[in-house]
Amino acid sequence: MGEPEADEEYPFDISPMYEGERIRKTDLYVELGGQSKPGFELVLFEPDPDKINDGEVSLIGPDLEEMEEGSTYAYAMIYKVYGEQIEEDLEAVIERRNHEYQGYIQGYMHLNQRSEIWVRISKETVKKGLKSLKQIGKATIMLFKAELPFIEKMEVTYVTDEDEVVRRLEEVKRVYEARDVKVRGLHDEDVDEFYQCTLCQSFAPTNVCVVTPDRTALCGAMNWFDSRAAARIDPEGPNAPIPKGECIDPIGGEYTGVDDAAVRLSGGEYDSIKLHSFLERPHTSCGCFEVAGFYMPEVDGIGWVHRGSKVSDTPIGLPFSSIASSVGGGKQVEGFLGIGVQYFYSPKFIQYDGGWRRVVWMASDLKERVGDAILEEMRGKIATEKDVKNIEELRAFLKKVDHPVVNGVTRDVDGAKITEGWAEAAEVAPPAEMEEAVLGEAEPLTRVPITQMMASGVDSPIKLILKDADIRIGKIIVKRKGEK
Ligand code: SF4
Repeated sequence: MGEPEADEEYPFDISPMYEGERIRKTDLYVELGGQSKPGFELVLFEPDPDKINDGEVSLIGPDLEEMEEGSTYAYAMIYKVYGEQIEEDLEAVIERRNHEYQGYIQGYMHLNQRSEIWVRISKETVKKGLKSLKQIGKATIMLFKAELPFIEKMEVTYVTDEDEVVRRLEEVKRVYEARDVKVRGLHDEDVDEFYQCTLCQSFAPTNVCVVTPDRTALCGAMNWFDSRAAARIDPEGPNAPIPKGECIDPIGGEYTGVDDAAVRLSGGEYDSIKLHSFLERPHTSCGCFEVAGFYMPEVDGIGWVHRGSKVSDTPIGLPFSSIASSVGGGKQVEGFLGIGVQYFYSPKFIQYDGGWRRVVWMASDLKERVGDAILEEMRGKIATEKDVKNIEELRAFLKKVDHPVVNGVTRDVDGAKITEGWAEAAEVAPPAEMEEAVLGEAEPLTRVPITQMMASGVDSPIKLILKDADIRIGKIIVKRKGEK
């Protein structure tokens, strides 16, 4: 794509080079959607071409010029599309491309998907002449039609009126749900091909997204059917088939075809991915995951918190945003995992590590949302923030409910006992001579349980391994036992 001059209609540059551009708070004109305001994006196929006003952009609610600088507003982006080759199956595919194409607009940051979209518009772009969201809508139509020529007609409605966004949101969630349900009857062993998605490599170059029937994409926006439709209609695009090859590990979900793709797509960074593992060579996570999982060695179990959760603290003392920074970046991080909500419904959900029997904690709003996916025997055994506040309380809770991690987890799929349990083990004690490490008085969110940071003792009392860390530390205090 060329780079049109900034002009009246588009007073900003448009180019793939802006993909991945971040807009910091200090450079922010307004924020739309995100954590604090409702929002969504939706593509709807319109079978009757006469019902689409091609190129029209309408706005319901305040426009940019009426917005208060530095504030956050609700935001819905609704796109009606028509094309002879388009059918309903392509709605999700086209919808996911909004992330990519709007990323080409200078000074406009688009993150996440579906009802979690988060947009920032920079002061600089407003200074250059951006006055209206209708200009963004026009540019978006131009980009969609240039990149996906099978879209013959397109009409845009943006909504910034909060009541109106909320009013439409329930219906929109039903559309998402209907798409998700479609794939639940299909499983990895039923197909010959999985699909790769490289859309997020602009943010996370080593990310390897593999979409399978049992593993809907971690962004939640692309299931196996969507990926197949995308690969067929846009073979040059980010989705392409991955022949499964030979199945090396049916429980972990390791295939020669996926391992080859891991090498190819990560530029050699990874050579193996187990699709249904949490702790050993897990799937990589870019930054778009709907839910972040974290391993807690003190209880040998896994916790989950989702984007947009009302829960501010997990048992490890960190909110979603801090955990997300450990999960993301296109890395394969053993002990952290980003997933899409639909993966909870998969019968292969982290089955290598014991599936639901290894889950010890969930944010209560997430547990409620996916309650029907949870293994019945486990529903009362998974704690939330309403039951426990920290690791000590979590251990006590798990003992009280006789959670499988306490005496050892038996894997449902093959009957193997995969953990020993810790019922008989001594209480978690700090390493010898080390009572406490207080990290980051300047940044409260960096107070991390020491065991979470891969503490291990060989000759020295403690060894910290921080890989690819980005740390700001105000002060470190290391105390000997008994020292004040
Ligand atoms: S998270 Fe993965 S599947 Fe979803 S758009 Fe990004 S690369 Fe594609």
